[in-house]
Amino acid sequence: MPRFNEMEYSPQQTVFTLNAPDDAGGVLVRIYASATAEHPLHTLSLFRIDHERWTSYVSGDMLGRFYTFEVFPKGAEGRGMGECPGTFAKAVGVNGLRAAIIDLKQTCPPGWEQDVRPSVENPCDLVVYELHLRDFSVHPSGHSLHKGKYLALTEPGAIFYLKSLGINAVQLQPVFDFSSIDEAHSEWAQYNWGYDPQNYNVPEGSYSTDACRPEVRIREFKQMVMALHTAGIRVIMDVVYNHCADTEDSNFQRTYPDYYFRKTPGTEQLSNGSGCGNETASERPLMRQYMIESVCYWVKEYHVDGFRFDLMGVHDVETMKAIRKALDGIDPSITMYGEGWSAGDCALDYHLLATKQAVRQMPGISAFGNDMRDAIRGDFSDDRASAWLAGRPGYAETVKFGIVGGISHPQINMSAVNYCQEPWAEQPSQYVSYVSCHDDLCLADRLRISFPNTPAETLVRLDQLAQTPVLLGQGIPFLYAGEEVFRDKKRVRNAYRSPDAVNQINWENLQRYPELFLYYRGLIQLRMEHKAFRMGNADWVRHHLHFISAPANVVAFRLDGEAVGDTWPIIYVILNPNPRARKVTIPSGRYTVVCKNGKVNPCGLSTHRGGTISVGARQAVVFHGGK
Ligand code: CA
Repeated sequence: MPRFNEMEYSPQQTVFTLNAPDDAGGVLVRIYASATAEHPLHTLSLFRIDHERWTSYVSGDMLGRFYTFEVFPKGAEGRGMGECPGTFAKAVGVNGLRAAIIDLKQTCPPGWEQDVRPSVENPCDLVVYELHLRDFSVHPSGHSLHKGKYLALTEPGAIFYLKSLGINAVQLQPVFDFSSIDEAHSEWAQYNWGYDPQNYNVPEGSYSTDACRPEVRIREFKQMVMALHTAGIRVIMDVVYNHCADTEDSNFQRTYPDYYFRKTPGTEQLSNGSGCGNETASERPLMRQYMIESVCYWVKEYHVDGFRFDLMGVHDVETMKAIRKALDGIDPSITMYGEGWSAGDCALDYHLLATKQAVRQMPGISAFGNDMRDAIRGDFSDDRASAWLAGRPGYAETVKFGIVGGISHPQINMSAVNYCQEPWAEQPSQYVSYVSCHDDLCLADRLRISFPNTPAETLVRLDQLAQTPVLLGQGIPFLYAGEEVFRDKKRVRNAYRSPDAVNQINWENLQRYPELFLYYRGLIQLRMEHKAFRMGNADWVRHHLHFISAPANVVAFRLDGEAVGDTWPIIYVILNPNPRARKVTIPSGRYTVVCKNGKVNPCGLSTHRGGTISVGARQAVVFHGGK
């Protein structure tokens, strides 16, 4: 029985249960005819039935009604904490202020019972595409019929595009209910990423076609999941349990004051490890249980396939492991990864936190490889900085570390790797490979700023090279939507509330940079068709990925395809970031070149007899063959 089962509906009665302090002066439920009605139809007093557990029920059919909880702390002289929909509302009215009594069974679109999770053997088999529903669908050139809505991802054009690119997982920027958009005014120009959680277990209303009808957002979210699943695409949610949009008005604080948030030790000050004003206390029993139940709820009710934990380094290791265990009980292929850091000091012993350094203690949980990201494009704290991509010395070892998926490898000298003294992943599937995401500058903007006065043609070439270790490395490749068409965000590095004009992907770019799209698509195809690029096993990577001798800054490696069951016996990948061509020597043989001069063709572009190979400036060459 879930601990957070706050409302249970049947036509005969509705039962309310809330986790609230044992010593509360009282807990009320108010039942309303609508989300906005001024006066309640009924007011119920809850009574305590167990430790931190209050309950009551109302007879009769309450379907379609709305409700709120209010907790009256002990000694507050009748002053309540304010009404709220509870912590685990599963349906809400407009702007998430009141919970709704609905029958979830009636929210399933036709065919939902047949919906199945696209199978994935190993997380390394995923190609993750991070998108924001508005970015992806609002620009007129996209011809979406449901601009900025869940339903945009059900449209054949959108599905066709994602399939053409070849990705098999979308990571959606927050789609749980967040507070920064006024759902009552869909006609206003509003934009937000949504990292300001309000109701963790309800879809955001502004992405539905009608935020006032609680069942609509639920049904449309499911339609989206089903359309993606039908296309073989997994759905990964970006979850933000590390903080709430607001502290005092949060559902956590209103139902159980001072329980769910950490305070700086010895003070009454809220700790701010999230950088957003508060940080949740995952190590406390109810918060831990909350996260477990919330994640499982999204899997069971919405068929979600994976989770990206925002600021995972705010949470504790034990909680993350408990979530993994709970998900394993449903389906071990459900993906879990997160940002292995926090945004400030947390009020919990650093050694207990689920940072990148703790990933080895968390089998089945992965973290973002910020080490390779910064080694490729330059440090995150300085947008003008360039690194390996500019042919600057000192970064190649970190690029290699990213290519093996953050594991120990006999040929990697860890003392020359960015940010870490020792390998932090036990398996390559624990390493999310990327050069860009929604945070910081998108890749095109970063290239424009860190390579000033550089022709567009060269920038495109650099973009291609930057993504090659991501897509042909052994970790989980992760792309920020639109990079494949050279999207820009007007050089805004933190566009979380910038207008559509900044954030939207202009799909006309597809005509402007077709070679870029084709390159991304080609590399994805190589990866998906060849197991050697995604061995998925640390020992295999250590034994069958060999770096070969190469000039300064050049990263060159051989993959023993045959040993891992690939149809290509030997594969060579040579990445030359230098502004001039460089030579690499390989054994003589008969090779087919599948990537060269910014072009990819898995069937072959040309042939080579081995010996000395010249690799052009700022490009990758990939070929396969043997003696
Ligand atoms: Ca909302």
